[in-house]
Amino acid sequence: MERVPDKNGYYGKFGGKFLPETLVPALKQIEESYEKFINDTEAQAKLNDLLKRYAGRPTPIYFAENLSNLLDVEIYLKREDLVHTGAHKLNNALGQALLAKYMGKTRLIAETGAGQHGVATATCAALMGMECEVFMGKVDVDRQSPNVKRMKLLGTKVTPVYSGSKTLKDAINAAMQDWVATVQNTHYILGSVVGAHPFPMIVRDFQSVISKEAVPQFLEIAGRHPDCVVASVGGGSNAAGIFAKYLEVEGVKLIGVEAGGRSNKDGDHSAKLNYGRPGIVHGNFTYILQTDEGNLMPVHSVSAGLDYPAVGPEHSYLKDIGAAVYETCSDREALDAFQALCRHEGIIPALESSHALGHVMAHKEKYKGQKVLINLSGRGDKDMPIIEEELGL
Ligand SMILES: *Cc1c(COP(=O)(O)O)cnc(C)c1O
Repeated sequence: MERVPDKNGYYGKFGGKFLPETLVPALKQIEESYEKFINDTEAQAKLNDLLKRYAGRPTPIYFAENLSNLLDVEIYLKREDLVHTGAHKLNNALGQALLAKYMGKTRLIAETGAGQHGVATATCAALMGMECEVFMGKVDVDRQSPNVKRMKLLGTKVTPVYSGSKTLKDAINAAMQDWVATVQNTHYILGSVVGAHPFPMIVRDFQSVISKEAVPQFLEIAGRHPDCVVASVGGGSNAAGIFAKYLEVEGVKLIGVEAGGRSNKDGDHSAKLNYGRPGIVHGNFTYILQTDEGNLMPVHSVSAGLDYPAVGPEHSYLKDIGAAVYETCSDREALDAFQALCRHEGIIPALESSHALGHVMAHKEKYKGQKVLINLSGRGDKDMPIIEEELGL
Protein backbone atom coordinates (compact mmCIF):
# COMPACT_ATOMS: atom_id res chain seq x y z
CA MET A 1 0.00 0.00 0.00
CA GLU A 2 1.28 3.46 -0.83
CA ARG A 3 1.62 6.00 1.96
CA VAL A 4 -1.47 8.12 2.40
CA PRO A 5 -2.40 10.92 2.28
CA ASP A 6 -0.36 12.44 -0.58
CA LYS A 7 0.95 15.98 -0.12
CA ASN A 8 -2.40 17.47 -1.13
CA GLY A 9 -4.26 15.43 1.44
CA TYR A 10 -5.68 12.74 -0.87
CA TYR A 11 -6.26 9.10 -0.07
CA GLY A 12 -6.70 7.80 -3.60
CA LYS A 13 -9.57 9.94 -4.87
CA PHE A 14 -10.86 10.73 -1.37
CA GLY A 15 -9.99 13.57 1.03
CA GLY A 16 -8.68 16.95 -0.05
CA LYS A 17 -9.51 20.38 1.36
CA PHE A 18 -12.78 22.00 0.38
CA LEU A 19 -13.16 24.87 2.85
CA PRO A 20 -13.92 28.60 2.70
CA GLU A 21 -11.08 30.80 1.41
CA THR A 22 -10.73 32.41 4.88
CA LEU A 23 -9.61 29.10 6.39
CA VAL A 24 -7.00 28.17 3.80
CA PRO A 25 -4.15 30.02 5.58
CA ALA A 26 -5.18 28.40 8.89
CA LEU A 27 -5.01 24.90 7.38
CA LYS A 28 -1.63 25.74 5.88
CA GLN A 29 -0.37 26.94 9.27
CA ILE A 30 -1.58 23.74 10.96
CA GLU A 31 0.09 21.61 8.29
CA GLU A 32 3.42 23.38 8.65
CA SER A 33 3.32 23.55 12.44
CA TYR A 34 2.38 19.87 12.67
CA GLU A 35 5.39 18.92 10.56
CA LYS A 36 7.65 20.87 12.95
CA PHE A 37 5.81 19.54 16.01
CA ILE A 38 6.34 15.88 15.15
CA ASN A 39 10.03 16.48 14.49
CA ASP A 40 10.56 18.49 17.68
CA THR A 41 12.01 16.07 20.25
CA GLU A 42 11.06 18.28 23.20
CA ALA A 43 7.44 18.59 22.06
CA GLN A 44 7.21 14.84 21.44
CA ALA A 45 8.69 14.07 24.86
CA LYS A 46 6.05 16.33 26.43
CA LEU A 47 3.24 14.54 24.55
CA ASN A 48 4.56 11.09 25.45
CA ASP A 49 4.92 12.11 29.08
CA LEU A 50 1.30 13.32 29.21
CA LEU A 51 0.06 10.16 27.48
CA LYS A 52 1.86 8.08 30.09
CA ARG A 53 1.44 9.99 33.35
CA TYR A 54 -1.76 11.93 32.72
CA ALA A 55 -3.81 9.80 30.32
CA GLY A 56 -2.68 6.45 31.79
CA ARG A 57 -1.13 4.85 28.72
CA PRO A 58 -0.31 2.20 27.69
CA THR A 59 -3.78 0.71 28.04
CA PRO A 60 -3.79 -3.09 28.45
CA ILE A 61 -5.14 -5.78 26.14
CA TYR A 62 -7.46 -8.02 28.15
CA PHE A 63 -8.43 -11.56 27.15
CA ALA A 64 -12.18 -11.82 27.88
CA GLU A 65 -12.20 -15.47 28.92
CA ASN A 66 -15.81 -15.75 30.11
CA LEU A 67 -17.20 -14.23 26.95
CA SER A 68 -14.79 -16.24 24.80
CA ASN A 69 -16.00 -19.50 26.31
CA LEU A 70 -19.58 -18.49 25.82
CA LEU A 71 -19.14 -17.47 22.15
CA ASP A 72 -16.48 -19.97 21.11
CA VAL A 73 -14.55 -17.01 19.74
CA GLU A 74 -11.36 -15.73 21.40
CA ILE A 75 -12.21 -12.16 22.34
CA TYR A 76 -9.40 -9.75 23.23
CA LEU A 77 -10.19 -6.17 24.25
CA LYS A 78 -7.91 -3.17 23.79
CA ARG A 79 -8.94 -1.19 26.84
CA GLU A 80 -9.28 2.40 25.62
CA ASP A 81 -12.12 2.69 28.15
CA LEU A 82 -9.36 2.95 30.75
CA VAL A 83 -7.87 6.13 29.27
CA HIS A 84 -8.42 9.21 31.48
CA THR A 85 -11.88 10.71 30.74
CA GLY A 86 -13.11 7.32 29.52
CA ALA A 87 -12.42 7.01 25.81
CA HIS A 88 -9.76 7.09 23.10
CA LYS A 89 -10.69 10.73 22.35
CA LEU A 90 -8.08 12.07 24.80
CA ASN A 91 -5.20 10.65 22.67
CA ASN A 92 -6.09 13.10 19.92
CA ALA A 93 -7.20 16.00 22.12
CA LEU A 94 -3.90 16.00 24.06
CA GLY A 95 -1.91 15.97 20.83
CA GLN A 96 -3.90 18.76 19.21
CA ALA A 97 -4.04 20.90 22.37
CA LEU A 98 -0.24 20.76 22.58
CA LEU A 99 -0.08 21.59 18.88
CA ALA A 100 -2.40 24.58 19.47
CA LYS A 101 -0.08 25.87 22.21
CA TYR A 102 2.87 25.28 19.89
CA MET A 103 1.12 27.53 17.34
CA GLY A 104 0.56 30.24 19.97
CA LYS A 105 -3.24 29.83 20.13
CA THR A 106 -5.05 30.68 23.39
CA ARG A 107 -8.54 29.31 22.74
CA LEU A 108 -9.83 25.84 21.84
CA ILE A 109 -13.13 24.93 20.24
CA ALA A 110 -14.57 21.52 19.45
CA GLU A 111 -17.71 19.75 18.27
CA THR A 112 -19.03 16.79 20.17
CA GLY A 113 -21.66 14.09 19.67
CA ALA A 114 -21.69 11.72 22.63
CA GLY A 115 -19.75 14.35 24.53
CA GLN A 116 -16.57 12.31 24.90
CA HIS A 117 -14.57 14.53 22.57
CA GLY A 118 -16.00 17.60 24.28
CA VAL A 119 -14.93 16.27 27.67
CA ALA A 120 -11.47 15.38 26.34
CA THR A 121 -11.03 18.87 24.88
CA ALA A 122 -12.38 20.56 28.03
CA THR A 123 -9.92 18.47 30.05
CA CYS A 124 -6.97 19.62 27.93
CA ALA A 125 -8.12 23.25 28.17
CA ALA A 126 -8.22 23.03 31.96
CA LEU A 127 -4.83 21.32 32.05
CA MET A 128 -3.18 23.84 29.75
CA GLY A 129 -4.94 26.98 30.94
CA MET A 130 -6.75 27.71 27.69
CA GLU A 131 -10.21 29.10 27.02
CA CYS A 132 -12.64 26.53 25.61
CA GLU A 133 -16.05 26.35 23.94
CA VAL A 134 -17.75 23.13 22.80
CA PHE A 135 -20.61 22.94 20.29
CA MET A 136 -23.13 20.15 20.80
CA GLY A 137 -26.45 19.38 19.09
CA LYS A 138 -29.45 19.95 21.37
CA VAL A 139 -30.57 16.33 20.95
CA ASP A 140 -27.17 15.14 22.19
CA VAL A 141 -27.13 17.68 25.04
CA ASP A 142 -30.28 15.98 26.29
CA ARG A 143 -29.30 12.32 25.77
CA GLN A 144 -25.70 12.66 27.02
CA SER A 145 -26.33 14.94 29.99
CA PRO A 146 -23.61 13.52 32.27
CA ASN A 147 -20.97 14.67 29.81
CA VAL A 148 -22.47 18.16 29.53
CA LYS A 149 -22.11 18.52 33.29
CA ARG A 150 -18.53 17.25 33.20
CA MET A 151 -17.55 19.84 30.57
CA LYS A 152 -19.10 22.63 32.64
CA LEU A 153 -17.23 21.47 35.73
CA LEU A 154 -14.01 21.62 33.75
CA GLY A 155 -14.64 25.29 32.96
CA THR A 156 -15.81 24.93 29.37
CA LYS A 157 -18.69 26.79 27.75
CA VAL A 158 -21.12 24.30 26.17
CA THR A 159 -23.15 25.81 23.33
CA PRO A 160 -26.23 23.81 22.26
CA VAL A 161 -26.85 23.78 18.50
CA TYR A 162 -30.48 24.07 17.39
CA SER A 163 -30.05 23.83 13.59
CA GLY A 164 -30.71 20.82 11.32
CA SER A 165 -31.10 17.49 13.10
CA LYS A 166 -29.46 19.01 16.23
CA THR A 167 -26.79 16.28 16.28
CA LEU A 168 -23.10 15.85 15.46
CA LYS A 169 -23.08 17.14 11.87
CA ASP A 170 -24.79 20.35 12.98
CA ALA A 171 -22.30 20.75 15.82
CA ILE A 172 -19.46 20.52 13.27
CA ASN A 173 -21.12 23.23 11.15
CA ALA A 174 -21.43 25.49 14.19
CA ALA A 175 -17.80 24.93 15.22
CA MET A 176 -16.62 25.69 11.66
CA GLN A 177 -18.64 28.92 11.65
CA ASP A 178 -17.07 30.00 14.92
CA TRP A 179 -13.63 29.10 13.61
CA VAL A 180 -13.98 31.26 10.47
CA ALA A 181 -14.48 34.28 12.77
CA THR A 182 -11.93 33.43 15.49
CA VAL A 183 -9.10 31.65 13.69
CA GLN A 184 -6.52 34.28 14.81
CA ASN A 185 -6.43 33.03 18.40
CA THR A 186 -8.44 29.79 18.16
CA HIS A 187 -7.59 26.20 17.24
CA TYR A 188 -10.43 23.90 16.23
CA ILE A 189 -9.75 20.44 17.69
CA LEU A 190 -11.65 18.16 15.34
CA GLY A 191 -12.59 14.99 17.18
CA SER A 192 -12.35 12.40 14.43
CA VAL A 193 -10.48 11.59 11.21
CA VAL A 194 -12.86 13.83 9.25
CA GLY A 195 -12.85 17.33 7.75
CA ALA A 196 -10.30 18.94 5.44
CA HIS A 197 -6.63 17.99 5.18
CA PRO A 198 -4.57 17.88 7.39
CA PHE A 199 -7.15 16.95 10.08
CA PRO A 200 -7.81 13.32 9.01
CA MET A 201 -4.05 12.67 8.95
CA ILE A 202 -3.27 14.43 12.24
CA VAL A 203 -6.09 12.71 14.14
CA ARG A 204 -5.09 9.29 12.73
CA ASP A 205 -1.46 9.85 13.71
CA PHE A 206 -2.37 10.81 17.28
CA GLN A 207 -4.72 7.81 17.54
CA SER A 208 -2.20 5.38 16.05
CA VAL A 209 -0.70 5.08 19.55
CA ILE A 210 -3.46 2.46 20.02
CA SER A 211 -1.97 0.03 17.51
CA LYS A 212 1.64 1.00 18.25
CA GLU A 213 0.90 -0.50 21.67
CA ALA A 214 -1.47 -3.25 20.54
CA VAL A 215 0.76 -5.04 18.00
CA PRO A 216 3.50 -6.04 20.49
CA GLN A 217 0.99 -6.46 23.36
CA PHE A 218 -1.09 -8.93 21.38
CA LEU A 219 1.96 -10.95 20.34
CA GLU A 220 2.93 -11.18 23.99
CA ILE A 221 -0.47 -12.29 25.27
CA ALA A 222 -1.54 -14.57 22.37
CA GLY A 223 1.75 -15.68 20.79
CA ARG A 224 0.75 -14.53 17.31
CA HIS A 225 -1.13 -11.77 15.50
CA PRO A 226 -4.95 -11.68 15.69
CA ASP A 227 -7.07 -13.07 12.84
CA CYS A 228 -9.24 -9.96 12.89
CA VAL A 229 -9.17 -6.48 14.36
CA VAL A 230 -12.61 -4.96 14.88
CA ALA A 231 -13.57 -1.36 15.71
CA SER A 232 -16.70 0.79 15.63
CA VAL A 233 -16.85 3.55 13.01
CA GLY A 234 -18.47 6.92 13.63
CA GLY A 235 -16.13 9.38 11.94
CA GLY A 236 -13.56 6.60 12.10
CA SER A 237 -10.84 7.71 14.54
CA ASN A 238 -10.68 4.77 16.93
CA ALA A 239 -10.76 2.42 13.94
CA ALA A 240 -8.04 4.43 12.17
CA GLY A 241 -5.95 4.27 15.35
CA ILE A 242 -6.14 0.51 15.77
CA PHE A 243 -5.89 -0.17 12.00
CA ALA A 244 -2.80 2.04 11.46
CA LYS A 245 -0.03 -0.41 12.44
CA TYR A 246 -2.04 -3.54 11.53
CA LEU A 247 -2.21 -2.26 7.93
CA GLU A 248 1.49 -3.13 7.85
CA VAL A 249 0.95 -6.66 9.20
CA GLU A 250 0.18 -9.35 6.62
CA GLY A 251 -2.87 -11.57 7.12
CA VAL A 252 -4.82 -9.55 9.72
CA LYS A 253 -8.37 -8.80 8.60
CA LEU A 254 -9.51 -5.27 9.46
CA ILE A 255 -13.21 -4.80 10.14
CA GLY A 256 -14.95 -1.48 10.75
CA VAL A 257 -18.47 -1.64 12.19
CA GLU A 258 -21.04 1.02 11.34
CA ALA A 259 -24.27 1.75 13.18
CA GLY A 260 -26.98 -0.34 11.54
CA GLY A 261 -29.61 1.46 13.63
CA ARG A 262 -33.14 0.08 13.60
CA SER A 263 -33.20 -1.09 9.95
CA ASN A 264 -31.45 -0.53 6.61
CA LYS A 265 -34.10 1.98 5.52
CA ASP A 266 -32.97 5.56 4.74
CA GLY A 267 -32.80 7.68 7.87
CA ASP A 268 -32.87 4.67 10.16
CA HIS A 269 -29.12 3.94 10.42
CA SER A 270 -25.78 5.69 9.95
CA ALA A 271 -23.94 3.16 7.78
CA LYS A 272 -22.38 5.40 5.13
CA LEU A 273 -19.79 2.97 3.81
CA ASN A 274 -22.45 0.28 3.46
CA TYR A 275 -25.29 2.36 2.01
CA GLY A 276 -23.85 5.79 1.03
CA ARG A 277 -22.09 7.18 -2.01
CA PRO A 278 -19.19 9.64 -2.37
CA GLY A 279 -19.69 13.40 -2.16
CA ILE A 280 -18.23 16.45 -0.45
CA VAL A 281 -19.04 17.32 3.15
CA HIS A 282 -17.22 19.21 5.91
CA GLY A 283 -14.24 19.92 3.68
CA ASN A 284 -13.47 16.56 2.08
CA PHE A 285 -14.60 14.05 -0.56
CA THR A 286 -15.81 10.83 1.05
CA TYR A 287 -18.68 8.36 1.45
CA ILE A 288 -21.81 10.15 2.66
CA LEU A 289 -25.44 9.30 3.31
CA GLN A 290 -27.08 11.75 0.93
CA THR A 291 -30.38 12.29 -0.84
CA ASP A 292 -30.73 12.27 -4.65
CA GLU A 293 -30.32 16.06 -4.50
CA GLY A 294 -27.02 15.67 -2.61
CA ASN A 295 -28.30 16.85 0.78
CA LEU A 296 -27.17 15.04 3.91
CA MET A 297 -29.63 12.39 4.98
CA PRO A 298 -30.94 12.18 8.54
CA VAL A 299 -29.18 9.38 10.43
CA HIS A 300 -30.07 7.30 13.44
CA SER A 301 -28.13 5.29 15.97
CA VAL A 302 -28.81 4.39 19.58
CA SER A 303 -25.27 5.65 20.13
CA ALA A 304 -24.73 9.41 19.74
CA GLY A 305 -21.06 8.99 18.90
CA LEU A 306 -21.90 7.03 15.72
CA ASP A 307 -24.64 9.41 14.58
CA TYR A 308 -22.75 11.07 11.71
CA PRO A 309 -23.70 10.85 8.00
CA ALA A 310 -20.11 10.88 6.69
CA VAL A 311 -16.85 9.05 7.41
CA GLY A 312 -13.16 9.90 7.31
CA PRO A 313 -11.67 9.81 3.77
CA GLU A 314 -9.08 7.19 4.64
CA HIS A 315 -11.84 4.67 5.41
CA SER A 316 -13.44 5.40 2.01
CA TYR A 317 -10.07 4.62 0.49
CA LEU A 318 -9.46 1.46 2.55
CA LYS A 319 -12.90 0.21 1.55
CA ASP A 320 -12.35 0.87 -2.15
CA ILE A 321 -8.94 -0.83 -2.27
CA GLY A 322 -10.23 -3.70 -0.11
CA ALA A 323 -7.71 -3.17 2.71
CA ALA A 324 -10.55 -3.12 5.26
CA VAL A 325 -14.16 -4.26 5.23
CA TYR A 326 -17.09 -2.43 6.78
CA GLU A 327 -20.00 -4.25 8.39
CA THR A 328 -23.01 -3.11 10.37
CA CYS A 329 -24.42 -3.78 13.83
CA SER A 330 -28.02 -2.93 14.71
CA ASP A 331 -29.15 -1.02 17.82
CA ARG A 332 -30.53 -4.29 19.21
CA GLU A 333 -27.30 -6.24 18.62
CA ALA A 334 -25.27 -3.44 20.22
CA LEU A 335 -27.52 -3.41 23.29
CA ASP A 336 -27.21 -7.20 23.60
CA ALA A 337 -23.42 -6.92 23.44
CA PHE A 338 -23.51 -4.09 25.98
CA GLN A 339 -25.39 -6.32 28.42
CA ALA A 340 -23.20 -9.35 27.75
CA LEU A 341 -20.02 -7.44 28.54
CA CYS A 342 -21.57 -6.05 31.74
CA ARG A 343 -22.82 -9.44 32.96
CA HIS A 344 -19.98 -11.74 31.93
CA GLU A 345 -16.90 -9.55 32.25
CA GLY A 346 -17.85 -6.77 34.65
CA ILE A 347 -17.07 -4.11 32.08
CA ILE A 348 -19.64 -1.43 31.20
CA PRO A 349 -18.72 -0.43 27.64
CA ALA A 350 -19.69 2.66 25.64
CA LEU A 351 -22.60 2.02 23.28
CA GLU A 352 -20.28 2.91 20.38
CA SER A 353 -17.79 0.19 21.35
CA SER A 354 -20.69 -2.22 21.89
CA HIS A 355 -21.25 -2.10 18.12
CA ALA A 356 -17.85 -3.69 17.46
CA LEU A 357 -18.55 -6.53 19.90
CA GLY A 358 -22.19 -6.71 18.74
CA HIS A 359 -21.13 -7.47 15.18
CA VAL A 360 -18.87 -10.32 16.31
CA MET A 361 -21.51 -11.75 18.66
CA ALA A 362 -24.20 -11.65 15.99
CA HIS A 363 -21.89 -13.54 13.59
CA LYS A 364 -20.12 -15.80 16.06
CA GLU A 365 -20.29 -18.80 13.71
CA LYS A 366 -18.21 -16.89 11.19
CA TYR A 367 -15.55 -16.07 13.80
CA LYS A 368 -15.59 -19.47 15.50
CA GLY A 369 -12.20 -20.36 17.00
CA GLN A 370 -10.58 -17.15 15.73
CA LYS A 371 -8.55 -14.66 17.72
CA VAL A 372 -10.43 -11.38 17.50
CA LEU A 373 -9.04 -8.11 18.82
CA ILE A 374 -11.79 -5.59 19.55
CA ASN A 375 -11.09 -1.94 20.21
CA LEU A 376 -13.06 -1.14 23.36
CA SER A 377 -13.06 2.56 22.52
CA GLY A 378 -14.75 3.83 25.68
CA ARG A 379 -16.66 3.18 28.87
CA GLY A 380 -20.41 3.40 29.21
CA ASP A 381 -21.10 5.67 32.17
CA LYS A 382 -22.09 8.49 29.81
CA ASP A 383 -24.78 6.27 28.25
CA MET A 384 -26.76 5.71 31.46
CA PRO A 385 -29.71 7.97 30.49
CA ILE A 386 -30.23 6.13 27.18
CA ILE A 387 -29.58 2.72 28.73
CA GLU A 388 -32.24 3.42 31.36
CA GLU A 389 -34.66 4.22 28.57
CA GLU A 390 -33.74 1.28 26.31
CA LEU A 391 -33.35 -1.42 28.94
CA GLY A 392 -35.87 -0.08 31.45
CA LEU A 393 -33.59 -0.12 34.50
C1 LIG B 1 -16.57 9.25 19.62
C2 LIG B 1 -16.56 7.83 19.92
C3 LIG B 1 -16.62 6.85 18.90
C4 LIG B 1 -16.84 7.17 17.46
O1 LIG B 1 -15.90 8.01 16.89
P1 LIG B 1 -14.73 7.47 15.98
O2 LIG B 1 -14.07 8.71 15.48
O3 LIG B 1 -15.35 6.68 14.88
O4 LIG B 1 -13.84 6.66 16.82
C5 LIG B 1 -16.52 5.51 19.26
N1 LIG B 1 -16.39 5.16 20.56
C6 LIG B 1 -16.37 6.06 21.56
C7 LIG B 1 -16.24 5.58 22.96
C8 LIG B 1 -16.45 7.42 21.28
O5 LIG B 1 -16.42 8.30 22.28
